Amino acid sequence: MNSSESLDSADPLARYSGLFLRDAGVVSYLDGNSLGRPLTASIERVQQFMTEQWGSRLIRGWGEGWLELPARIGDDLGRVALGAAPGQVVIGDSTTVLLYKLIRAAVDARPDRTEIIIDRENFPTDRYVVEGIAAERGLTITWIGGETEPESDAGVTAKRLSKKLSDTTAVVVLSHVAYRSGYLAEVPALTELIHAAGALVVWDLSHSVGVVPTQLDAWGVDLATGCSYKYLNGGPGAPAFAYVRADLQGELRQPIQGWIGSRTPFEMGQGYTPADGIRGFTSGTPPIIGMLAMQDMIALIEEVGIEAIRTKSVALTRYAVQLAAELLPDARLASPKDPARRGSHITLDQDGFDQVVPKLWAQGVIPDYREPNGIRIGLSPLSTSFAEVELGIWAIRHPGA
Ligand SMILES: *Cc1c(COP(=O)(O)O)cnc(C)c1O
Repeated sequence: MNSSESLDSADPLARYSGLFLRDAGVVSYLDGNSLGRPLTASIERVQQFMTEQWGSRLIRGWGEGWLELPARIGDDLGRVALGAAPGQVVIGDSTTVLLYKLIRAAVDARPDRTEIIIDRENFPTDRYVVEGIAAERGLTITWIGGETEPESDAGVTAKRLSKKLSDTTAVVVLSHVAYRSGYLAEVPALTELIHAAGALVVWDLSHSVGVVPTQLDAWGVDLATGCSYKYLNGGPGAPAFAYVRADLQGELRQPIQGWIGSRTPFEMGQGYTPADGIRGFTSGTPPIIGMLAMQDMIALIEEVGIEAIRTKSVALTRYAVQLAAELLPDARLASPKDPARRGSHITLDQDGFDQVVPKLWAQGVIPDYREPNGIRIGLSPLSTSFAEVELGIWAIRHPGA
C-alpha cells in the first residue's frame, strides 16, 4: 500500500484543501458527509452580503436579485453537479420539507394507485415523511428490507425492487447513497424499472450531491432533492434543493401553497394559482442568508470538475478500507467492498465503538457514530487529505493515545 504521504503528493486535488477554514484543534475531520467544512471565501461573501446588500439595499434587495437567487443557484447546481438543464432545480426549504412536497405531489399524480415503496435502510426522515403521507392519504407502505435482519452493507438492487413493484405502486422513494452503508444505488436502472411499472420516483441525493456525479435529465429521473450542508458546504441548516423534471412541472401540484410560489405574489390577490415552472414548487420567502456559502462550493466544484472529485473520492474510500483492514482487524466493513458501488463514506462496525467516538472527538479526530456499533468515516475529496485519513484510522486503533 502507498503511504499517505506519497498519495497526497501525487494528488492533483491536494492544493484545494488550503481553501477551507481550518481549526488547529481538529487534526482529522472525517465527517464532511454530515457537515462540510466552510470555505474561507464564504467569510467574505457573508460579510459583503451583510454590508453591501442587506445593510444598504434593505427591502430593495428583493427586487435586485434576491428573489431570483433560488432558481439561479439551482441552475448552477444543475449544470455543475446534477446533469440538469436550466429551469428544473430550485433552492429552498429543508430536505425533509422538500421530500414532503415532492412525494405528496407525486402520489397525488397517481390517484388510482394505493402504495408507496421505500426501504428500511433509508434515512429516518425519508421513512417518517413517507409514513406521514401514507397516513394522511390512506395509502399503504411496501417496505424493501426488514423482513429479516438487514444486511448492514446492503442497498436497494434491481432484484429487491422488482419483487415489490406492482400496478398499485404510486411512488418509490430511494436514496442515491445510503446514509449508513454508503451503498450507491444504480439510478438509471432502478428509475427505468419504476417507470415500467407506471410509478414515479423521488431520489434523495443528500449523500451524493457534490461528490458522485448524476445525470438526472439523461437518466429520466422524475423528482429529486438533497442537502446542501454536506458535500456542498453550505453551512449548518443551509436550505436544500429540489429537482422537478421539466415535463412534469405542469402536471404536478405541491401541497404547501404559499405566496412566493404563486403566479403573482405581489398582487396579494384572492385564491392560489401556482407559478409556472420550478417556482411553483417554492412556498414562502427564500432563506437568502442560508444560500450564500453553497455558492462558493458550487463554483469550486465547477472549477475542479465533478468527475475529478469522484476519482479522488474513490481513492480516499479505497485507502480508508485498506488501512482499516490492516489496523482494525476486529472491525467489520459495513459498506460495499467494490468502490464503484459506494459513495464517499464507509462504515466500520465493532462492538464498543460507541465508547471510542467521544475519545476521538476529544483529541480532534472527528468521524461520527451510527447505531448500533458503527464508526462512519466521511471523506470530502476537496478538503480531506490521505494523511488525515491515516491519522484518523490510527486514532481509532489507539483512542486517547
Ligand atoms: C442528511 C439527510 C437528510 C437530512 O434532512 P434535513 O431535512 O436536512 O434534516 C435527509 N435525507 C438523507 C438521505 C440524508 O442523508
